[in-house]
Amino acid sequence: MIGSLQDNALALRARVTKAAERAHRDPDSVTIVAVSKGFPRAAVDAAYEAGFRVFGENRVQEIREKYAFPCPADAQVHFIGSLQTNKITQVLPYVQVIETVDRPELVRALQRQLEKHDRVLPVMLQINISGEVQKSGVAPDAAMSLLEDALAAPHIAPVGLMTMAPLDADESMLRSVFGGLRILRDELQERTGHVLPALSMGMSSDFEIAIAEGATHVRLGRALFGERR
Ligand SMILES: *Cc1c(COP(=O)(O)O)cnc(C)c1O
Repeated sequence: MIGSLQDNALALRARVTKAAERAHRDPDSVTIVAVSKGFPRAAVDAAYEAGFRVFGENRVQEIREKYAFPCPADAQVHFIGSLQTNKITQVLPYVQVIETVDRPELVRALQRQLEKHDRVLPVMLQINISGEVQKSGVAPDAAMSLLEDALAAPHIAPVGLMTMAPLDADESMLRSVFGGLRILRDELQERTGHVLPALSMGMSSDFEIAIAEGATHVRLGRALFGERR
């Protein structure tokens, strides 16, 4: 597994670099979020050894077990799942960024807990660009209001937007979803004067298109770690 992880890492970095260069972007402006959900701590440690510093997780119980022994200080865990407000206190000690803030209630509950610990948490707002009913994320026309809520919360620092494309989308659909997130980001920046540098979009199957459309974070699970069992 370690050998193949290193091979996968090399191949993925080369593809990220190529996609960035094709888009006339600096390859260093794209961070790979190594989505280690469903894989054991040994996989996280191996990926750290291979140079990855940002890990993506989506289950609170799994996070508590996997990260009970802390990662080196320069590693970060991004929460990329749907977060219930009653799980916030359990997950906050282990995560450095929450990418999936998708409703005002979650903003309020996060603010309450963060204030107690006098901690400021970077977050991304999860947007449902494609409008699929089963996808989480706030509708694009409600994003401004959610951003205003987050900007009004002193312990929450909105740093960008996150989205998931439909699984069966073709290339033109993917371009419109990822491009749509970027356009929405530009509009929100203009309306609020608040800079939102991060665009987390693209997974193993579609990250090159996401990079072409401006992704700063691509969330790669299977392409790096192999199939989840
Ligand atoms: C699982 C997951 C990913 C990674 O998916 P792969 O297809 O394994 O690359 C990315 N983003 C989110 C939100 C996920 O839940």
